[in-house]
Parts: sequence; C-alpha cells; structure tokens
Amino acid sequence: MTWRASVLTLFPAMFPGPLGLSLAGRALETGAWSLDVGNIRDFAADRHRTVDDTPFGGGAGMVLRPDIVDAAVASVDDGRPLVCLTPRGRRLAQADVRRFAAAPGVVLLCGRYEGIDQRVIDARFMEEISIGDYVLSGGELAALVLLDATVRLLPGVMGSADSAAEESFSAGLLEYPQYTRPAEWQGRRVPEVLLSGHHGAVAAWRQAEAERITRERRPDLWAAFASPEHAASAAS
Ligand code: SAH
Repeated sequence: MTWRASVLTLFPAMFPGPLGLSLAGRALETGAWSLDVGNIRDFAADRHRTVDDTPFGGGAGMVLRPDIVDAAVASVDDGRPLVCLTPRGRRLAQADVRRFAAAPGVVLLCGRYEGIDQRVIDARFMEEISIGDYVLSGGELAALVLLDATVRLLPGVMGSADSAAEESFSAGLLEYPQYTRPAEWQGRRVPEVLLSGHHGAVAAWRQAEAERITRERRPDLWAAFASPEHAASAAS
C-alpha cells in the first residue's frame, strides 16, 4: 500500500513545492508515496466562498470557521493520524516522524491568519504539532517540513537504510561529524582514525564524537540519553 499524505490548505499551489524535487520528488513519481491537496475554500458554503470570520472576544485577524474546516477534514479522514499544524502544538520530534512513517499516511491541516476555531480541532481529536518556537504565516511550510522528514524514512526512498539508522536523533544523540575527500584541505586533515581502515576504531571514534557533541550542544538530549531509563532500554 502506498503511503498517502492528504493536505488541507488555502494555498494548494505551495505543494508539492520542494517535495517535488530530489529524493522525495523521485519517490513521488515512482509511487513510493502519494500526495493529494485539498483546498479548504472548496468547502465554503456561500457565494463569496468565505472560510474565516472575526474572533469572538475581539482582537486582530481572522479565524478559520469550524464548519468549513470540518467539511474539508471529513472529505479525507479515514483513520490516518490527523495533524493540525500550530505553534501551540507539541514540538515535532524524530519519534513522531518515525510513527507517521509507520502509519498508512497522514492528514495535515494547515492554518492561516490567526488560526483555526479550537472546536473542530477538539471534535476531531487532532494531534496539534508545532515545528518550533516561532510563528509562521501559515501551516504549509510546517506541513512540508513534517512530510520531508517522514517521506525520507519510507522504504525505498533514501539510498540506504543504514543512513536513517545512524543519523542524528535516531539513538538519542546528534550525529558525529562527516568528512570526505580531499584528506587534507587548506591545511586541515581529516581525523587520522577515519583513514585507518580499522572499522572498530572508526565506530568507537564516531560514538565518542556523537556523545561529545550532544553533551556540548544539547544538554537536554544528553540528560535523556544518560538517564537510567534510557540505559535500561538500550540494554534490552
Ligand atoms: N495566532 C496564532 C498564530 C497563527 S499563525 C498563535 O499565536 O498561536 C497561522 C498559522 O500558521 C497557524 O494556524 C498554523 O497552522 C501555522 N503555524 C505558524 N507557526 C507554526 C509553527 N511554529 N508550527 C506549525 N504551524 C505553525
């Protein structure tokens, strides 16, 4: 079964956008995943195709109406994870990305303006996801980020399954630094151990570097990695 993404947006022209290129684009062409994009405006009921209204309680901007958004969601809701992109959501992490990749697909709802009436988010039990602590003008770029991260984990999309297993976050650590030819560039030599051909020594160096970089740059990840629960689950 093809992994299927459905996106609901007021700006369908933003898709597939960057996902039409490179690995994701090729995988879209070969059918490793599929993308359908619904225009929320198609579900408006009036002559002017109105989708939003002013916020109850006052304040700036416009809010997407729950009845219109619900009709749009109903057109694609089939039990796949239903995600609303919002800065108020839980921050997207690689564990979520793995979960989405393992599901039959996802439905992504992109807000605009001041956002979406909370009642439809609650009524449909949507997962509220944020891509970071900043405010975008719409959910479309956030949906593209979520899809990019997810699609590259689908079978047959990335060249080698090993790259996914080794990269940042997969073991709770940031990745070790990477080097390629030339072995010396502007007086800087590649770490000698990488030229040694000694696989055990290379693996040990990479593990040590991953731990050092995580400890230095991301104390939050390091604390979780070094915690007793993690040590227990890594051992089992
Ligand atoms: N008034 C809202 C922001 C609305 S931004 C607030 O202060 O919380 C408009 C839309 O952009 C949102 O509905 C959401 O779909 C999207 N968006 C903005 N920032 C985002 C982020 N960090 N992650 C995911 N979606 C985001």
